[in-house]
Amino acid sequence: MPTIDALSERLTEYLDQQQIQQVRRAYFYAEQAHDGQRRKSGEAYVTHPLAAASILATMHLDHQSLMAAMLHDVIEDTEVTYEGVHSQFGESVADIVDGVSKLTHLEFESKAEAQASNFQKMVLAMAEDIRVILVKLADRLHNMRTLGAMRPDKQRRIAKETLDIYAPIAGRLGMRDLQVELEDLAFQAHYPMRAKYIRRAVVQARGQRKDIISSIQETIEQRLRQEGLKGTVSGREKHLYSIYSKMKSQNKSFAEIMDVFAFRVVTDSVDDCYRVLGAVHNLYKPVLNRFKDYIAIPKSNGYQSLHTDLFGAKNITIEVQIRTKEMDAVASQGVAEHSHYKVYGDSDNSDSAVGSYKRARKWVQGLLEMQQRAGNSMEFIESVKEDLFPDEVYVFTPKGRILELPAGSTAVDFAYAVHTDIGNSCVSCRIDRRLAPLSQRLENGQTVEIITTPSAQPNMAWLNFVMTGKARTAIRHFLKNQQRHESIDLGRRLLNQFLSKYGSNADEIDQAKLLELLDEAGFKSLDDLLEDIGMGNRQAYVVARRLRPESDEEAGDQHGSPLSIKGTEGMVLQYAKCCRPLPGDEIIGHISAGKGLVIHRTACRNIGHLRDDPGKCIYLEWFDGLKDEFVAELTCQVESHRGIIAELATVATSMGADLQEIDIEDHEGKLAKVHMELLVKDRIHLARVMKKIRVLKTVNKIIRP
Ligand code: MN
Repeated sequence: MPTIDALSERLTEYLDQQQIQQVRRAYFYAEQAHDGQRRKSGEAYVTHPLAAASILATMHLDHQSLMAAMLHDVIEDTEVTYEGVHSQFGESVADIVDGVSKLTHLEFESKAEAQASNFQKMVLAMAEDIRVILVKLADRLHNMRTLGAMRPDKQRRIAKETLDIYAPIAGRLGMRDLQVELEDLAFQAHYPMRAKYIRRAVVQARGQRKDIISSIQETIEQRLRQEGLKGTVSGREKHLYSIYSKMKSQNKSFAEIMDVFAFRVVTDSVDDCYRVLGAVHNLYKPVLNRFKDYIAIPKSNGYQSLHTDLFGAKNITIEVQIRTKEMDAVASQGVAEHSHYKVYGDSDNSDSAVGSYKRARKWVQGLLEMQQRAGNSMEFIESVKEDLFPDEVYVFTPKGRILELPAGSTAVDFAYAVHTDIGNSCVSCRIDRRLAPLSQRLENGQTVEIITTPSAQPNMAWLNFVMTGKARTAIRHFLKNQQRHESIDLGRRLLNQFLSKYGSNADEIDQAKLLELLDEAGFKSLDDLLEDIGMGNRQAYVVARRLRPESDEEAGDQHGSPLSIKGTEGMVLQYAKCCRPLPGDEIIGHISAGKGLVIHRTACRNIGHLRDDPGKCIYLEWFDGLKDEFVAELTCQVESHRGIIAELATVATSMGADLQEIDIEDHEGKLAKVHMELLVKDRIHLARVMKKIRVLKTVNKIIRP
């Protein structure tokens, strides 16, 4: 059984004493935190984090990764908090542990293949520090090695998740050794019968193959010696899961797969690689179109090697991989190998997560340079870059489907991504089952549920925070339609208002006159004209005079009867902030270009001389059945004392008037001026609120400005 002392001994190979000391301290901390806990196998719990750290030590990962591996379950499974780990071991280690804990909470349930790939991306996106993934993979590998102690159904679930998510992630990061081991362990746990059959067949075939392998190996070695080339030749056996996948995906029999013999030649330099290639092509005839130059054009995870297939004797195929020692190390450890080089290779601030982020970025940078030297198309790098530095955020629908959105997306973007109708009718949302503002930025792994009502409408303010083009376009489209609709409606009412003085209305206009006017203005239809009036760009009374019936040359009073305001005019109607009109107030509408109608109190000082200009203003009245609430302003002079704000707020609320804003503006000795904004139904409602406030002993004066 591995011990902390044995591990410490191994660490002297590449860590200094102080770093090893820190790893040991993390071990003892974990041992104490997990005290009394046992694994399913009966061992003390701390054996698990120790094993995970040992796996990372094999890859020569830095001391912080090892410390995080020691501590990876303490936040999840013990009393220890993030703050505790932070204060003991610093921010980087605490963040890695926290990241691993978050991954543990993700449960992959969907069976769809496409979802598996999205889920992989989500896992990668959740780890801002690549070491989170490395610790998680080590954790998973040890759990797979000890899976036998689990209940069978749990074994199958974990094995499936390993095959679908974690083994492919190891592959994406170029960690071939880890991928192979995860795959074989998971394959045996998930398909025990198939694994048993294939293993037995492999063992049987091995006897016959042994002679062939050593004879081919000797032949190649001999040829390299003749040519004066250095290189180590070794036979490779395919792992169980790859045999199984090949049988399944390429529809091959076991015998067909076993007729392929695979070798690897590891040599010193890139030049040697190509010379070795020439030598083996001289020795055996190459299979047409099977040669691949991954040295010139590396794989997306940084893998480099020459691959060629050769015709051997008796119908067998010989696969040969040729690469340098460095390429071989990268091929088995991928990103881990790179981060190892970077940690000890440069003086970068390896103490922070930023440092590790930089290292991962350098790894990608390295791939990019490799790519550029190879002079091939850019697409090769994209997948890796997206994996490590995604511009996307991955979130769940309530049914467990994963949606990919641009980073910074909000619930509104999410709603539109699901369906335009959902976006158009959304009113609020739950993020991880809690009510949240629609504008909240989504984070990886969250579950988002959109709440809709049929009568809801998109809000112009959403345009300030949506990220996706889809949401933006849909909202704009809706608002534009909506605005046109509302403008036409208001324009028709304004025009009718003035036409009524001539005993006419918009439906009875002389068509010849209308066509002439439309033509002059460049409009296609009456609706276009009405929209222009509703938007305030064109004066209704001028249009009415043009379109009036011939018989009725002169009309009396230019204002006519007032237009009725229903509060449903939407975007083409606004209540002026200077005087805050309420139902019950006398009102006047100021027609303002591009905005439609702005409603003022008739007495408002800002209206002044415009009041009598029918081109600028129109008399209005309130519709009776108005159900809206309106903002009213109040100013009070009070004797300042502690709790005055609460006192005022209580009175307002008790009268059913929601307080929107309250603040004390200025003091003069003991007197203070309080400004409040509240929501009321109408003028009478406001009067009642004022009466109640006036009764308060400390209130000297209350006015509606
Ligand atoms: Mn664990």
